[in-house]
Amino acid sequence: MREDEWTSWLACLGRLSAEQLLQLRQCLDAVAAVDALEAALLRWRSQHPECPHCQGLYVVSNGHADGRQRYKCRRTSTRAM
Ligand SMILES: [Zn+2]
Repeated sequence: MREDEWTSWLACLGRLSAEQLLQLRQCLDAVAAVDALEAALLRWRSQHPECPHCQGLYVVSNGHADGRQRYKCRRTSTRAM
């Protein structure tokens, strides 16, 4: 959104009815909920790498080698990373 559009949009907020304000709040809450869900999913995925063999998410930590964390797939019992 261009800056002038944003300024106009903000200026309109004072003219919204109570029902319109409620609708706006519900829209913003929905966006915030989706953002929070995406952030949680990204955090979870960064902590649970995908197995390159079966694409499964049943991967657990399996010690260290060469200074790097190693993982093992519980489904295929292969070294995942
Ligand atoms: Zn696997």
